[in-house]
Amino acid sequence: MDALQTLSALPKVDLHVHLDGSVSPESLIALARYQGIPLPTYDPPQLHPYMQIGEQGCGSLVEYLAKFDFVLPFLQTADALAYVATETVRQAAEHGAKYIEVRFAPQLHRERGLSADDAIRHVIRGLKLGERQFGVMARAIAICMRHHDGEANLEVVEAASRYCGHGLVAVDLAGNEAAYPASLFRDVFARAQGYGIPITIHAGEAAGPDNIAEAVERLGAARIGHGVRAREDDEVLALLRDRRIPLELCPTSNIQTRAVSGWSDYPIRDYVEQGLLLTVNTDNPSVSGTNLTNEYRVLAERFEFTPQEIKGFILNGVEAAFLREHEKEQLRREILEFGAL
Ligand SMILES: [Zn+2]
Repeated sequence: MDALQTLSALPKVDLHVHLDGSVSPESLIALARYQGIPLPTYDPPQLHPYMQIGEQGCGSLVEYLAKFDFVLPFLQTADALAYVATETVRQAAEHGAKYIEVRFAPQLHRERGLSADDAIRHVIRGLKLGERQFGVMARAIAICMRHHDGEANLEVVEAASRYCGHGLVAVDLAGNEAAYPASLFRDVFARAQGYGIPITIHAGEAAGPDNIAEAVERLGAARIGHGVRAREDDEVLALLRDRRIPLELCPTSNIQTRAVSGWSDYPIRDYVEQGLLLTVNTDNPSVSGTNLTNEYRVLAERFEFTPQEIKGFILNGVEAAFLREHEKEQLRREILEFGAL
């Protein structure tokens, strides 16, 4: 096996992958044909500009998020949600994933009559089918959207409470961070905390470290999505380190959304040295044109992480997973027993 094959085969976890950012052009064409919704082209490579950030990246998180508008109309039925959930598991399995947490916003899948509960139920159904077919444990995370009102987000938390422990493991907050600071969502996440649902929050990606502190100290976040801007505040760095709050880094996405200016400015080495608990994830394989193997390849090439350091990131992912201890132990064993590194 060459180095890339070894990296691909290495057992991995992905804790931060969006369902609507994982729809391949081939899947979209299948959904379009089945549902009778027209596409501008039925040639997969020609769909890329509509669905994927190009080589040049994009201007901001807001531009990045616009790519999701193209696929969402196709994800409004029970079967479409289940199908893309299973496909997300299949794609992860191709890159050695043994455990994934797939996140999605139930309220964005209701244009054709599904309830928030329906959306969650059918995503879990698709994930479970993927588990059986591809041997990857897969759980769901329900996202509250920053641009939605409190009522819509409380509805998500209520629905999530009914599936927590039954295929769903957490709730999240996502969307335009710069326009909607974390502090606007105290009521929503107080409800989630009341139900004991684990919480992860996108913070310190398109806005500053205050959002990270707010997410951890007020909203009850046990993990932070991205958090690349934590370095702007030493107190926030200390908070993350002392409480062992894992960061869900998504390197390719973080470069594309301009969360950092470029690879030379990506703080991963710095964060390792500061003792932060770092995990490596894909965010949106289709939108970002990436996969788990590629994320680790980039880190190994650009930052000279050794195979042991790569394994360390994966083991951090296991530690940070919203799983029970015996499930984590099984994953740890699989990773540690992988001999080719
Ligand atoms: Zn994300």
